[in-house]
Amino acid sequence: MTSSLKGKKGLIIGIANTHSIAWGCAKAFHEAGADLAITYINSKAEPFVRPLAEQLKAPIIMPLDVENETQLIDLFDEIQSKWGKLDFLLHSIAFAPKEDLHGRIVDVSRAGFLRAMDISCYSFLRLAHLAEPLMKEDGCLLTTTYYGSEKVVPHYGLMGPVKAALESITRYLAAELGSKNIRVNALSPGPIPTRAASGIEHFEELLELARQKSPEHQLASIEAVGSYARFLVSDEAKLVTGSIVYIDAGFNIMAG
Ligand code: NAP
Repeated sequence: MTSSLKGKKGLIIGIANTHSIAWGCAKAFHEAGADLAITYINSKAEPFVRPLAEQLKAPIIMPLDVENETQLIDLFDEIQSKWGKLDFLLHSIAFAPKEDLHGRIVDVSRAGFLRAMDISCYSFLRLAHLAEPLMKEDGCLLTTTYYGSEKVVPHYGLMGPVKAALESITRYLAAELGSKNIRVNALSPGPIPTRAASGIEHFEELLELARQKSPEHQLASIEAVGSYARFLVSDEAKLVTGSIVYIDAGFNIMAG
């Protein structure tokens, strides 16, 4: 028996293709009965994302580059006029300029740092701000993070501090929005081969380590992340907020 999301309206940001974590979550939300608004970053991505959104019968399919304030406003105007409410939102995006991501963080450029923080981190705050008035009785905000926020993971570089800030934002938002019954949580999957992951150097070594070291000796999957996300946005997770939840076969508990 899976959690029902019948009647719930959700916004999904971060589908690039069928490997995306956001796609695994969107499928799980749809199967549980939710109506979805799905965004694509630009016209290059649209031919890949639109057919996926149509497969899930998404009533709202719109462009969103989180650096574009006009697109953000247009998206929330459309949600307001079509649904008049929003029950949950998934923020599943990250970006860092390659030259900054692949170097040492001691050498990171100011522009690269600010852009990585803006797209990967500030955007979650901005989305929370726009979603709050639409979450009238309750709501759930989800973001996606990684263990490299708390421990130094080779080649994760600049994204480590960025994810640490995102996790802190998750806790502060949860504290501020709790009285409005808006819950805020971060999904922390183990490594999954996706387009974003392909930007991390020697990513296959992270996969191998995850398989070897995790108690379950298994890799995370977008389906496993989707199942957990479906539970978190459902009414069954009513008392879960401010959490960083690992979907990593137990990797995070192991020393060394
Ligand atoms: P993905 O499929 O490449 O998804 C990342 C998405 O972010 C892409 O659709 C990308 O669009 C989009 N994006 C980048 N900049 C954006 C912007 N300015 N505005 C709107 N969208 C933007 O990779 P993923 O692995 O599923 O990543 C989703 C999230 O999970 C990220 O936060 C990532 O850090 C996190 N995560 C991933 C793993 C992993 O091992 N894969 C583990 C833990 C956490 P384009 O690709 O078209 O630029």
